[in-house]
Amino acid sequence: MDSLYSISKVKGIISEFEFRFKKKFGQNFLIDKNILDKIINATEADEDSVIVEIGPGIGTLAVEMAQKGATVYAIEIDNDLIPILKEHFSPYPNIHLIHSDALEIDFKRLLEPHKDKKLKVAANLPYYITTPLIFKILETDLPWDSLTLMMQLEVAQRIVANPGGKDYGALSVAVNFYGTPKMVTKAPSSAFFPAPKVDSAVLNIKVENKIQVESQDFFFKVVRKAFSQRRKTLLNNLSGLRELNKEQLNNLLKEINIEGNRRGETLSIEEFAHLSDTLYKQ
Ligand code: SAM
Repeated sequence: MDSLYSISKVKGIISEFEFRFKKKFGQNFLIDKNILDKIINATEADEDSVIVEIGPGIGTLAVEMAQKGATVYAIEIDNDLIPILKEHFSPYPNIHLIHSDALEIDFKRLLEPHKDKKLKVAANLPYYITTPLIFKILETDLPWDSLTLMMQLEVAQRIVANPGGKDYGALSVAVNFYGTPKMVTKAPSSAFFPAPKVDSAVLNIKVENKIQVESQDFFFKVVRKAFSQRRKTLLNNLSGLRELNKEQLNNLLKEINIEGNRRGETLSIEEFAHLSDTLYKQ
């Protein structure tokens, strides 16, 4: 099977199958070989990998990963892409096509039998479900190895942001709780057909347990509250938690060397963990 990424190939397939792009499914197919190679390299697709691909489109990524020997579960929602994918996947017994909404998939059930392999996700994500999908995956109790995800550039920048900057927020802290995100490459809109209105970027998130907290739910509650009104101080955003009034909260913050007049956007993930555990024990 030839590679599927060239613009002439994509156009040929679309006309052969009379395929119509659906905006509601965020369909922008990758046509840039250089970026495709960077995704495949970051995924480290090999015989020891079991890779879930969300939204395979016409099969571009899945086929490349299968050629490297990986087992691929390709989850596609669009009925009209299924005949195209069946044809493109037919030479590869190691690709399993699942016709479903990725948000409805029970990843644990799907991947439990492969727990001894490296469990990965690779996707050029439909933008409308980027954040819920990332959390659905990370919150599934599985020994994930890594996620390699194409997403809107602006979302990628928020995820990799460091404390203190304008991009740093609840999303940065939450993803960093589960792993280490790294920017793999930016992708201009010309890397896709049809070209989206915004630029994109590929992130690789190495999943690893960096932070231990007393209660994960409470940690996320503190993070959400700390960023609930960005211009307000921690003292304002967090008072009321554990029924502490401002004075009690201020004293507690002093004990752990965090000034009450700081804003959430200045706290490192370690400081959030310390803060959440201290409050949780109240
Ligand atoms: N992977 C292909 C590529 O890189 O050329 C296509 C990427 S395109 C940005 C997004 C793909 O996700 C489309 O094939 C679209 O139909 C599919 N999709 C959209 N929503 C989905 C969902 N909820 N579950 C599974 N697939 C979905």
